[in-house]
Parts: sequence; C-alpha cells; structure tokens
Amino acid sequence: MGSDMRSLHPLCPLCGIASYAVGCRLSPLSQVDFRPMPASSLETVVSLCKRRGFVFPSSSVYGGLGSTWDYGPLGVELKNNVKRAWWRSVVHERDDMEGLDAAILMNRLVWKYSGHEATFSDPMADCRACKARPRADHVFAAQKGRDPKGLAEINAAIAAKELTCPKCGSKDLTEARPFNLMFRTSVGPVDTGDESGLVYLRPETAQGIFVNFGNVLDTMRRKLPFGIAQVGKAFRNEITPGNFTFRTREFEQMEIEYFVRPGEDETAHEMWIAERKKWYLDLGMRADNLRVREQEKHELAHYAKRCVDLEYLFPMGWSELEGIANRTDFDLKAHSRSPENTDAVGELHYFDPEQKRHYVPYVIEPSAGADRATLAFLCDAYDDSLVKEPPAEDTAKLRELVESFARSVARREGMDVDVKQRLQAASESIAAGLPATLPRLIGLMDDADANKIEVMKKVRGVGEKIADEHTRTVLHLHPRLAPLTVAVFPLKRNESRLVELARSIKRDLQRAGLRAVYDDTGAIGKLYRRQDEIGTPWCITVDFQSLEDKTVTVRDRDNMQQEREPLGEIGPTLLARLR
Ligand code: ATP
Repeated sequence: MGSDMRSLHPLCPLCGIASYAVGCRLSPLSQVDFRPMPASSLETVVSLCKRRGFVFPSSSVYGGLGSTWDYGPLGVELKNNVKRAWWRSVVHERDDMEGLDAAILMNRLVWKYSGHEATFSDPMADCRACKARPRADHVFAAQKGRDPKGLAEINAAIAAKELTCPKCGSKDLTEARPFNLMFRTSVGPVDTGDESGLVYLRPETAQGIFVNFGNVLDTMRRKLPFGIAQVGKAFRNEITPGNFTFRTREFEQMEIEYFVRPGEDETAHEMWIAERKKWYLDLGMRADNLRVREQEKHELAHYAKRCVDLEYLFPMGWSELEGIANRTDFDLKAHSRSPENTDAVGELHYFDPEQKRHYVPYVIEPSAGADRATLAFLCDAYDDSLVKEPPAEDTAKLRELVESFARSVARREGMDVDVKQRLQAASESIAAGLPATLPRLIGLMDDADANKIEVMKKVRGVGEKIADEHTRTVLHLHPRLAPLTVAVFPLKRNESRLVELARSIKRDLQRAGLRAVYDDTGAIGKLYRRQDEIGTPWCITVDFQSLEDKTVTVRDRDNMQQEREPLGEIGPTLLARLR
C-alpha cells in the first residue's frame, strides 16, 4: 500500500537478499529446491500452464513483453472460479457486505490525497561501475541483516561505502532515489505537453471504494459495521516483476474495505483474519502451506494500526498472498474536505443513530491478489509422480542425454548468466535424480531457453516418450475451482449411438449448471490422464451397457475409483458436491 517504503520480506535462503520481490535474481527458480513443497518447483507448474492452455506469455508473436501473461482457455476458467468463490464468500453469503465496480481511471486528486503521488515508490540506486540498478532497501537488508528505517539510513550507508552492488561488488553506488510505481497516461484527444490531462492507471482498487463510501452508505441505507468489496485490475510499474504470475505489472485484486465504529476495529480485524484464512482452507489449500504473519512495527505503513499477511509456501518460499490491515480512519479523512484537503467537495463520515453523532469510521482492509491466489491454488493442487519405473537402460540413456545437455550449456558462450546458471543447475540435478525427476524434466523440455540448445531435441525425443508412459500429473483442485467440472467420453467414437448419448449427457449437465465438455479424441486411458492433468474432478464414460440400462461409469480424479451410476442421478449428485 502507499507507504513511504514498502514492507520487506525475510531474506532469500539462497542468496541472502531480502526477497520482498520474491523474484530473487541471484537465486534462479530451478535452483530453489531447498524444501518440500506441493509442486516440485515453479518451473513444473509454469510448464503445465503453458502446455495445457492455462497461461501463455503475452504478445508472444512479437517476442513477448517481460513478465506479462495471458490467461488461456483453462486459465480464465480457473481464475474466474477463484474470483467467483471470493465474491460468493465475501458478498453473497454475508449480510454486511455490498459489491462495487469502480473505474480504473480516476481523478488525479484521488492519488494526491491518498498519498500515492508522494510516497508509492521503491528506493533505487545505480551502480556506477556495472550500471545495475538494484533496490536499495533490498541491498541494505541483505548486507546489514536488518531492514532499513528509511531512505535517509540507506543513503547514509551508501555514503559511508558500507553497501556494495549485489551484481559486481562495487561500492560506487549513487544516492538512492524513490521510483514511483504508478503508470501515467493522459485523458483527452490532445497531448498538451503539460500535466493537465494526467491520470494514473490505479495501483490498487481500494481508493475506488473509499471515494464511493458515501454513495454506498446513502443508497443502500447501511449501518455500521458494513463493508464494500471489489474485484478489478491494478497496475504497478514493478521494478522486479517475476516468478511467473506472482508479481506482474498488471494484475487483479480482490479487496474489501470493512467500516466499523472506532473501538470495534480490533475485533473486526480478528474476524477478518479468521474468515480469510478459512476461505483458502475451505477451497482445499493445505493448512501446512498457509500461515498468518504479523507485520512488525517498522514494516507497518504510517497510518496502519496493525497488519497481518496471509502467506503461502510457494515453491520459492513463504510469500504474501493477502494483506489484512487496520487502516484506522486515515483514508476517509484523507478524502474529506479539511484544511489539508481543500479540493474535496465534502466529508466522508457517518451519522451514528444510537450515539446521535457524526464520526469517521475505522476501516479493516483484507486485500488479496486474484492472480496470486490462482497461482497458489495451482501450486497446492499440483501433484506428479512416477506411476511405474522405466526400464533401467532407458533411464541410463536419458541420463546420458541430460548430462550431455548440461555440458552443452556449460560450454555455451554469450548466454545470459542467470539463464546459464538456471539451466545448468536444473539439468544436473534432474540427471542425478532420474527417474524420480522425470516430472521436472517435462518442465525443462518445455523451457524456451533450454530449447535453444541443439541437444535438447535429442533429450525430448527420448524423454517425452518415457515421461508419457511412466508419469502421472494431477491437479487436485477443489471442484469449485476446477476449470472443467466433468468430461464425457463415448467408449468408441465410431459408434454413433454411444456418441449421441454422450453428447446429450454433456448438454444436459451443462444445462444443469455444470461446466461440462465432450471428448472423443483418444483412448479412454489417455483421456482420463489429460483430464487429470487439468484438474477435472469427474469423467463419465458411456459404454454399450449405458444404451441398455441408462447407467454410466463415473470416475473420480483423486482416488481413480470408477462407479456405475444411473444417468438421472449424476447431475444432482455432482451439483451437491460443488456446494
Ligand atoms: P507485495 O509486498 O507482494 O508487493 P503489497 O504488500 O505491495 O504486496 P498490497 O498493496 O497489500 O501488496 O496488495 C494486496 C495484494 O495484491 C497482495 O497481497 C498481492 O496478492 C496482490 N499484489 C500486489 N502487487 C502485486 C503484483 N505486482 N502482482 C500480482 N499481485 C500483486
């Protein structure tokens, strides 16, 4: 949020740099296998996402745009399901909440008085020797072992030559300067060259809620406590985006502002911490992978009374999923007319009919990222395993090829140092661990940088076949989140009666409100595996017996059990399981 220096996270266990931007450039992802985790590494999830149409690199026909991603056919379903589940839980299932969809472009004054124009920035220093531009607060934290207290302390350390460039080791750093993270654009047909048409792409959805507080209060006749929820895009010119969709410059937030009487704020804060944690767990997230982290005093934004982060154990370490802050009456006061704000047209306050007086409510803000939640659910649901051991000679042949790939990377000149390190470390550890590392090899075989190296063709030639026959990848997504709920197959695609029945079952299930697809593009075993890989909880097979007794086989993704069920019961049973 708009603090003068955004909060820091613990140090990266590999390189020691504070991993606020979890995309630690010194510890490439594939090296980060220092702990057990649901997805064996982020690269396996990225690979699955690209392979199966969840997420694609954006503008790829023009070489892409760094750290920008497009959600594909399955990804958009998954992310929509995450947003829908959130909306249902925080708006529809509660009596004290309203929804809102505010504009992305707002009057520039909103960002002036919210404090973002002056303070929504990261401190950057330039290295005069190698021209790197590191985050100065990260450098300070990594090298001093604690977070800095502010820009002045960072600059004092730079002046005293106590800090070194993390890339080349030089002490010749410029003074750190704040770099504002808001994207600027202008409204109107003419670019006047001055700032009269300046607007920002909103860096958070929250301010749209604060400036609508009075509108919602009046039109919905609300009494405290009540809250307003909003889902929408936000934009930040992040200096170190990365780790797939974890940190991007364009992302979606799911934010709540919950207004309460001053004095009732602490209880409301506890209520929201419990509610939000429960939401992730109810949607199947493993409790061991979710924790509540109390922000320390020096991390708090100046207006915040208390803030806790819900953190998820991503493959790259514990990282923020959602922040839940007690923002006191700061925001509503900031947008109210006062000697400090003569631009506001009125006051954002509340008349308490019981106390018979006006006051400014306190606000609790649970602020989550839709993309981060989606990524966390994907990592948590990801499961891959060897289903049977490949013959020893096949494994030996594959190991030899992967080792040859690693040597080829090591010899390669002119390759980006980070990419080289990443590919070498990944291929060496995959070769050493075969056949158990076959699922990770699938990720490497999909890696665009790895495919620039000739020998990868040979690795793929052998590896794809072995992986296909001996591994099983499953996304154990909660049925409410899964992109598809049910897939229907005919046992034989050239048997018109089976095809007709299967298609009509698909239509009926879709009409009943289940996301259903029909598929006949492979043998049943192969179709099951494809659906497992994208997390479809149930598959239905229509066979000859179905034509006679109107029963079908329903196969469960998680336990792979197949049960014979009467056709008429399937829709209601599956709908009940989705509730
Ligand atoms: P971080 O410390 O990770 O940068 P933040 O504390 O700045 O996050 P908030 O301003 O509190 O984040 O935003 C609320 C939520 O929005 C975060 O918990 C996160 O889920 C999401 N979010 C923030 N920045 C990004 C980003 N650049 N990319 C994706 N999601 C983001």
